[in-house]
Amino acid sequence: MKIVRLEVFVIGDGPEIDPDKGGIEPLACIRIHTDAGLSGLSEVFRVPPGVVQATVGDAHTHFGRLLIGQEITHPERLWQHMWDAFMHTNRRGWEIIILGALDVAIWDVYGQKMNQPVWKLLSGAQRGPFQSTVGSAVEVVPYCTLVSDVWGGEPMFTQQVARAETLAALGYLAFKVEPMMSTPRDVVELTRRCRKAIGDDLTLMVDVGYLFNDVPTAVRVCQQLEEFNIAFFETPFPVDTPEPYAKLAAKTNIPLAMGEHGVTRWEFLDMMDRGGVSVVQPYMTTCGGLTEAKRIVELALARGAQVCPGNWSTQILGAASVHLAAYSPITPFIEFAPAEVFESPLRRELQNAGFPVINGAIALPDCAGIGYQLPPDILDRFRI
Ligand SMILES: [Mg+2]
Repeated sequence: MKIVRLEVFVIGDGPEIDPDKGGIEPLACIRIHTDAGLSGLSEVFRVPPGVVQATVGDAHTHFGRLLIGQEITHPERLWQHMWDAFMHTNRRGWEIIILGALDVAIWDVYGQKMNQPVWKLLSGAQRGPFQSTVGSAVEVVPYCTLVSDVWGGEPMFTQQVARAETLAALGYLAFKVEPMMSTPRDVVELTRRCRKAIGDDLTLMVDVGYLFNDVPTAVRVCQQLEEFNIAFFETPFPVDTPEPYAKLAAKTNIPLAMGEHGVTRWEFLDMMDRGGVSVVQPYMTTCGGLTEAKRIVELALARGAQVCPGNWSTQILGAASVHLAAYSPITPFIEFAPAEVFESPLRRELQNAGFPVINGAIALPDCAGIGYQLPPDILDRFRI
């Protein structure tokens, strides 16, 4: 079975969308077609669609040159084939993100060819009877990322807490508040109110979106947050250097998290080893694909860290996160942008087409490949 065509299409809620409000900005999606009639699907988060269109296409394009005509074998071979070709490029940025998206689409085709769900081909569920996560069953638990239309103060508190209450009533088990572009006092206050609203039994995370530059302020905030039983504290600092992370990690018992824009296992390794980060959050495409994500799991496992895949994109990407979580022994949660509380027609339809969340959890998929079926009418109505 060979790759014969690479297709790119762009979908979105509209050309001018603020993704911080939950809408889907123009998003390039990739389909790999084979001579056997099978195809694999993926999406490319936060890469300008024009870049994807220019580099993924016929045999004259950057990626088409490498993939068209290639036999569908184990995805790791094709990953290495692309990676080796990039020895004299920077192997970071848009190039590795697109490589990662192609890798996910290749896993999708490979799973269909083998007639197995991708998580079984990644080695099958690695959580034994001694490693349960939220409950005793092996299942995938999404955590809901909450944002608000405004940052800081009473409007932010009210909207994010109301969203947590709505989602808790629907059965979701975990929530991440996002007191971004806010004062230290607002960070603590939003966390306090959300913990009070959801009670002690549900899981709460805090993401401050690179809010701090100085360590002492972040230390003071973490000290105040410790009483609220926080699963992790995300991106306190820019991720250009691990040094501030290491200093904060030494002074708080709240696990530090980062990784939404992390690429390659090497960046995650550095943030774990030199930064004291104990929750890494690769996007299944951005980090370099499922192939690279599995390597990140193996490195994190050896360090006693967790891997909680990030996803502020759609459930096309979310489906790949589910397969990683189904296999990984150290993935208690995957990120989830719940369509129930955001004004995005496309997000809602893409979520409805994805794996169902029942009682706050997603069952291990029983499908060939990744198993996300994009409804054809979505293309008709949301193509940009
Ligand atoms: Mg974040």
